[in-house]
Amino acid sequence: NVRVRFCPSPTGIPHVGMVRTALFNWAEARHTDGTFVFRIEDTDAQRDSEESFNQIIDALTWLGIDWDEGINVGGPDGPYRQSERGEIYQKVAQQLLDAGYAYESFSTPEEIAERNVAAGRPKEFGYDGYDRNLTEEQKEAFRKEGRLPAIRIKMPDEDIVFDDLIRGRIEFKAGSVPDYVIVRPNGDPLYTLTNPVDDAMMRINVVLRGEDLLSSTPRQIVLYRYLMDLGVAKEMPVFGHMPYVMGQGNKKLSKRDPESNLFLHRDHGFIKEGLLNYLALLGWSIAPDNDIFSMDEMVKAFDVRDVKANPGRFDIDKAIAINAEHIRMLEPQDFLNRSVPYLFRDGVVSAATWDELTDREREVLTASAELVQTRVRLLGEVSGMVGSLLSDAEYIAPEDDAKKQLKATAGEVLTAAIAALDAVPEDQWLTDNLHETLNKTLIEEAGYKPRLAFGPIRVAMSGRRVSPPLFESMEIIGKPVSMARLKNLLE
Ligand code: GLU
Repeated sequence: NVRVRFCPSPTGIPHVGMVRTALFNWAEARHTDGTFVFRIEDTDAQRDSEESFNQIIDALTWLGIDWDEGINVGGPDGPYRQSERGEIYQKVAQQLLDAGYAYESFSTPEEIAERNVAAGRPKEFGYDGYDRNLTEEQKEAFRKEGRLPAIRIKMPDEDIVFDDLIRGRIEFKAGSVPDYVIVRPNGDPLYTLTNPVDDAMMRINVVLRGEDLLSSTPRQIVLYRYLMDLGVAKEMPVFGHMPYVMGQGNKKLSKRDPESNLFLHRDHGFIKEGLLNYLALLGWSIAPDNDIFSMDEMVKAFDVRDVKANPGRFDIDKAIAINAEHIRMLEPQDFLNRSVPYLFRDGVVSAATWDELTDREREVLTASAELVQTRVRLLGEVSGMVGSLLSDAEYIAPEDDAKKQLKATAGEVLTAAIAALDAVPEDQWLTDNLHETLNKTLIEEAGYKPRLAFGPIRVAMSGRRVSPPLFESMEIIGKPVSMARLKNLLE
């Protein structure tokens, strides 16, 4: 039984790298019928926040990444917030001390640097193992000075080798990893302790995480060996380190880059299907010639051994193109339901849910759903598309790039269109009739090119250069408002 985990620290807004980690772990669990554990690593009171904690849950819930044990759902190995597990870490740290796998260390950073310089090593060389063999008298003397010890793990004098699921064999040479701190002098346990202890107690057997954590793996392997000896851990997990996500200029995408902000993507109108599909491609692919897939398809096909070790680049244009494909695949009513919150946000409709809309709003949206659905790439674009259909404004001020569509002939075109359309009875104000009438008047008789003929009419109807199809739009807008918009643009 595969047991994987997602264990973010709640510092800041959920970012795409974090979500990709969650997604791959989730896919591995679902593919293998395994267990996905979700815990929170909130032992850094300075940086952790309740807001971030709630945002992470919001993100997973929105995306449909569900978990089997952990936060909110509970499970046999809780609590699942590290801030509530202090006693557990204290007890394990004591066991490690008692067994001689860890020791008290009184050296200050300044002393460590001084000793390095004195021994001809670089100042930042790291910790030298000085406190390993302190006598009881020496420790007592330090205590009398008022010093409090940190607790360090003893690293063995041997190479540490493991087979990474994604990167193959990885070796850390003996002596390359210094004895490291697991508990601060003030008693606070560090990630170096809490993460492997929880993985052990939660019986995690596959650790899938970002490449940035590769350097902590030799330490964790050593600690795991000690934990197995103490009976805290049953078996050594296997590790897989996923490639970095690169941003602009081939630099690692940083949490501070706006592109990495998950909620910004949601605000722009990524749907979960599109965003997850795109994030899955950052290190994995389903088939060489297929970039579009559902999460069901991903779960069926996923194997962490197929994850590539090379960094993936976050390409927002590609992400948007993939999102557009997924928007097109939605049932029209589902598309509308999901669009309504965006429309409400943008002030285009009167309520945030479909059921609360007015009859007229529902009617217009239903009539335009398919026209719009095939033309937007993000749900945030829907407002601009349907705003002019929903509004009964008799004049829509053209946007800047729409003004450019109004060539010298725009006045004549509008005048001719108004005259011809005036003759169309209101109950004949239908897409086909409108198309035929304007085609006959403007193109066949007056001889305008289609762009010069329909451009000004489109601008009158929508104020935009790009809009849903013109004649369908005019039918939805209706004769009185359409005529008013044409006349008012002419003036
Ligand atoms: N809390 C760690 C982080 O947010 C988890 C690292 C790990 O997966 O081991 O980076």
